[in-house]
Amino acid sequence: MKKTIQDYELKNKRVLIRVDFNVPIKNNQIINDNRIRMSVPTIQYAIEQGAKVILLSHLGRIKTEEDQQKYDLKPVAIHLGNLLGQEVIFVEETRGKRLENAIENLQSGQVLLIQNTRYEDLMDEKESTNHPELGAYWASLGDIFINDAFGTCHRSHASNVGIATHLPSGIGILIHKELEAFTPILENPKHPFTIILGGAKVSDKIEVIENLICKADYILIGGGMAYTFLKASGIAIGKSLVDEEHLDFCKQIIQQYPDKIILPIDSINAEDIDGIAIERFISDFKPNEIGLDIGSNTIKLFSQYLKESQTILWNGPVGMFEKSNFAKGTKALCELLKENSGVKVVGGGDTASAVIQFGYSESMTHISTGGGASLELLEGKKLPGIEIINEK
Ligand code: AMP
Repeated sequence: MKKTIQDYELKNKRVLIRVDFNVPIKNNQIINDNRIRMSVPTIQYAIEQGAKVILLSHLGRIKTEEDQQKYDLKPVAIHLGNLLGQEVIFVEETRGKRLENAIENLQSGQVLLIQNTRYEDLMDEKESTNHPELGAYWASLGDIFINDAFGTCHRSHASNVGIATHLPSGIGILIHKELEAFTPILENPKHPFTIILGGAKVSDKIEVIENLICKADYILIGGGMAYTFLKASGIAIGKSLVDEEHLDFCKQIIQQYPDKIILPIDSINAEDIDGIAIERFISDFKPNEIGLDIGSNTIKLFSQYLKESQTILWNGPVGMFEKSNFAKGTKALCELLKENSGVKVVGGGDTASAVIQFGYSESMTHISTGGGASLELLEGKKLPGIEIINEK
């Protein structure tokens, strides 16, 4: 078990907390502050314990000086100050005298945010390549390191792995919640255990299927990836998305697990993504049509499996939900999960966005804050940002 923030005496200590403030910003306005809100419990806890709180986060990717202007963390500092009801001291640099003096003057219960850690990527990618000098420098600014940025745990960066190499470390409240949601599913799920997989590409989900097919009772497949599976079973799928490279993988999985892999029986098609939506049985596909959502009979079919499931894991929207014509399947699954009283865990990224956008956040046991990180957990991989943290 990893140490948590609660395992440390924080009073008067300089506590470096890696948070995930990688939020969408346009014209200095934060479009969606979900990630900032999710980090508040850990920050609040550290304040209440009398820590000197020093926050680090990345924002966007920095390749040019224009990127630096675009991805300045200052608006986040102001917004976080409003959420916490206290000033957040913002230091515009990622290193140097000004930062060191500000930390020296920091009082117990005060919060300071360091500029975007990826400013360090401009010259020679020190942050993203976990340059040892950078991790050691940031570590020298604190006494304890807490990682609460789940979204970057699958990366080994200076601001997570680099700092943790040099300081006593623990996970924050958010990462603890993520692990509490995923660990039982991965180790000992309650059966029936059903996985819903969707999204664009089969290639992104191959390792998830390989890792979980033995544990799962059913894998319901929708989204763009379903059409590759359908083609692999000999069905003509018009101009739908096909991942030619992985046809053999799909064929083999269907043959090996015919009762576990559940494919769509109908589809919402159109001649292009802005075209008129037509529902057709899979056997009636027209050569000039693209499949863009699961049909109503597939929703009924999937509902039979979902109704009985005690554990449901969902990764990937089952249609092009960004277009209202092709959002019905993904919305219907939200509704089916709402009706289910078992454990329902939603992977991060697009699936999380869809569930939140359609207003079903409260109906889920857990919605992950990390797309890539949650996918790697499901693939059975160890996340370097968590592995490095001290054991209890
Ligand atoms: P992923 O990042 O692999 O989870 O893919 C998410 C994306 O898949 C979303 O942007 C959806 O619009 C897209 N998607 C879902 N179903 C389809 C489909 N049938 N055809 C093309 N794209 C799809």
